[in-house]
Amino acid sequence: MKDTFNREIRYLRLSITELCNLRCRYCMPADGVEKKEHSEMLTEDEMVMAVEACASLGVNKLRITGGEPLVKKNVISICDRTAAVPGIKEVCITTNGVLLPKLAGDLKAAGVKRLNISLDTLEPAKYEYITRIGKLDDALKGIETAFDAGFEKIKINSVLIGGFNDDEIENFVRLTEKWPVEVRFIELMPMYDSGDFKEASFIKNEEVLKRVPDLVSLGDDGSGGVARLYRLPGAQGTVGLISPVSAHFCRTCNRIRLTADGKFKPCLHSSLEYDIRGMTKEEMTEQIKKVIMSKPEKHEELSYTKRSEANRNMNRIGG
Ligand code: SAM
Ligand code: SF4
Repeated sequence: MKDTFNREIRYLRLSITELCNLRCRYCMPADGVEKKEHSEMLTEDEMVMAVEACASLGVNKLRITGGEPLVKKNVISICDRTAAVPGIKEVCITTNGVLLPKLAGDLKAAGVKRLNISLDTLEPAKYEYITRIGKLDDALKGIETAFDAGFEKIKINSVLIGGFNDDEIENFVRLTEKWPVEVRFIELMPMYDSGDFKEASFIKNEEVLKRVPDLVSLGDDGSGGVARLYRLPGAQGTVGLISPVSAHFCRTCNRIRLTADGKFKPCLHSSLEYDIRGMTKEEMTEQIKKVIMSKPEKHEELSYTKRSEANRNMNRIGG
């Protein structure tokens, strides 16, 4: 289905939990999130129904996210059932990778096509600092297991933070010589009340091109133009730049989001939400039409002083 700005909505990001086994500083509060009553969250059946309703309106790509989707007990069943929904061509997952050693094989068997794995630093002490509680080795083991399980086209998502990991840009880019991955640098977004970052932390993705001038442009990634792609001569993998702050991609936005507590969001950076909890599939379908028709043309520009208008931290949206 098309929205009022002639954008065909094809992509649903479904957050299946707000909980996480890490506490990244830019994403969630230090003490985690309050565990909610089951009755406040979508059930597995409601999630599957919502995916069916979206597919009936033309959505063909699903990304399962969170919080950390792999901490959700029934994640395999959710993947299995949503991958079988007629019209859904691709189910992907965004994960911090820590639980992949346990789950990569089952995810593959459940029909998950692709993995995006988040990794902001290659240095153990910095990993522990940014995630507050994580161990770099666990994330690296997760990436290796994903290769072993047969996942191809793995993407590594790295949030670029001035003064924290900009000195590692080249090391991240060099990962594409070692592994056939797409390393994607994502600009830090000022969300709700997460992260007490200084102005200097918000750096533009252009910094990547300044630090590694050998990168050759390959154009956009063909999936709605979210990432601009580059390659180091001779590298197996590619480098993607995602610039929601310095060059937002609203004009080609083809996505809607559903939060774990049952709210559809027409735009990541808006506070507008549509509840679907307790609805029948027919009611959900009507509600989703409203969501699509209320997608704004674009969101406000974000900056150090202008935070996102979304009234949630990222772990409660899904990225
Ligand atoms: N836990 C999973 C993970 O970390 O991959 C999935 C959920 S996480 C909210 C999805 C993505 O959002 C991650 O790649 C994370 O780095 C990114 N993210 C979270 N907060 C962000 C922020 N303030 N600015 C930019 N990216 C952010
Ligand atoms: Fe958890 Fe992902 Fe947020 Fe980090 S970015 S706290 S791993 S949900």
